[in-house]
Amino acid sequence: MDNIIECKNVTYSYPLAETPAIQELNVNIERGKFYGVIGENGSGKTTFCALLRGFIPDFYKGELNGEVLVEGKKTTDYGGELSAKIGYVFQNPFTQISGVKETVFEEVAYGLENFGVPVEEIERRVVEVMQMTDIEALAEKNPFDLSGGQMQRVALASVIVLEPDILIIDEPTSQLDPEGTESVFAIIKALKEKRKTIILVEHKIDLIAEYADEVLVFKEGRMIAAGDKQEILSDLSLLEQGAALPQVAILGSRLKEKGLPISRIPVTEKQAIE
Ligand code: ADP
Repeated sequence: MDNIIECKNVTYSYPLAETPAIQELNVNIERGKFYGVIGENGSGKTTFCALLRGFIPDFYKGELNGEVLVEGKKTTDYGGELSAKIGYVFQNPFTQISGVKETVFEEVAYGLENFGVPVEEIERRVVEVMQMTDIEALAEKNPFDLSGGQMQRVALASVIVLEPDILIIDEPTSQLDPEGTESVFAIIKALKEKRKTIILVEHKIDLIAEYADEVLVFKEGRMIAAGDKQEILSDLSLLEQGAALPQVAILGSRLKEKGLPISRIPVTEKQAIE
């Protein structure tokens, strides 16, 4: 087994917090696998992502016990190289946009410039990634003049262009309409086909069911279950506990027990009726 990330007995509290945001976490992330992370609001999903990326304790202070290892080395022992290994897509694409570039093209190129990549290579990689993320038509636009869906695609492009082995994507569709969601998932599907290691936080269980290999369930700072997606997603009691599913999804899961394929678990009322 090739573990690209390992968490060993990790407990973390934000400064002044009364209870830890993550408690006694042990998990191995295998290279090339796609992990779906679910759990109700405040259960620790974003904190988990920030730990893997080394934002904790680098950016967020507080108290960290235990170790997070990326390719066998503690995140605290890395310098800037961790940003080349792990791409991180924030929940809110506004956070991702640098604010110092005036066009989408320059925005996507920005990270490569910082890494000192030669100009011709920057141009080639940016064009390729803009095609993949379907933002070519936006090349000359200001990144802040975009719709939520377009901005999220630009945010993804600016991370993908760096070609990290690991991608951590925190609820990329929380602010998107169904069309925006679909276009973002087309990109995620392409990344999966490239056998990247992907850690995706997503509320929409049908998307997790379709794309993930493994599912991690968080509740009140603890990882209460982890395993093969079929196993986890067919355990309704686990989903009810961990994911605070809407009633329609629970109905969908019950229908699934009667033979509906798992990828068709409805997550909206409309889908449930269909
Ligand atoms: P989720 O992503 O599952 O919604 P979070 O990881 O954002 O959960 O939050 C886990 C817990 O940590 C919550 O109790 C939340 O209030 C707290 N928390 C999150 N971010 C911060 C922060 N920057 N400072 C203090 N507490 C935080």
